[in-house]
Amino acid sequence: MGSSAAMAAGPGALTPWGAGNTRWGARRSELFFDRAEMDPNSHPEASQNPDPDLVFMDQALRLAQAAIPLGEVPVGAVVVRDGLIVSAAHNRRELDADPTAHAELIAMRTAAQVLGDWRLEGCIVYVTLEPCAMCAGAMVLSRIARCVYASADPKAGFMGSLDDLSQHPRLNHRFPVSTGVRANESSALLKGFFRDLRARKKMGL
Ligand SMILES: [Zn+2]
Repeated sequence: MGSSAAMAAGPGALTPWGAGNTRWGARRSELFFDRAEMDPNSHPEASQNPDPDLVFMDQALRLAQAAIPLGEVPVGAVVVRDGLIVSAAHNRRELDADPTAHAELIAMRTAAQVLGDWRLEGCIVYVTLEPCAMCAGAMVLSRIARCVYASADPKAGFMGSLDDLSQHPRLNHRFPVSTGVRANESSALLKGFFRDLRARKKMGL
C-alpha cells in the first residue's frame, strides 16, 4: 500500500499532501506554504486572510479524511514552524500494525527528522482529535511551542479531558493549547467512520 493507492482511494476533491506517505522526502517541497499567504500581518488587507489555525487544521482534516478508505480511524496532524508545514500524517495503526502510529506522533517524528533535531522548539502541532497520554507526553518531551486540536476525546484525551499533560506542574515543559478549531468537522468524520464500521459489522462484512 503506497501513497498512490491512498490518493486513488481518497475522495476526488481532497488529495492531501503526503497522504499515505508519512515518511516523505521528495515530496517535501509540496508541503510548504507560501509564507506571505499564511501571515495575517503580511498583508494590508489582513481581514481578508484566513486565520492560520483554520488553514492548518483544514490540512489536518484532509489527512484525517484520507485515512478513512484505508480503514484507519480518521485522525490527521500537521506540524508547523514559522508558518510553514514541516510534516503531515494521518493515523496508521492498522496499516503499520503499530499501537503507537498515531497521526501526531508520526508527524512529530517526521518533523524531527526533517529539522534534524529532536527538540521541536517553535513548532505548533495541529491535530484533529485531542492527543492521548502518549502523544501529549511526546509533545512535552519534544518541547513543542503549542498544540491546536479540533475535537475533544472524553475517553482518552490527555489535554483537558482525562488530565492535562500540557500544563502538568511537575513536568519540565508546558505549552499553550487551543481547542475547538474545526471541532464539528472532525467530530463528524469520526462519528461517520464508527457508524459505518458498526453497520458493516452488523452486515457481517
Ligand atoms: Zn495519541
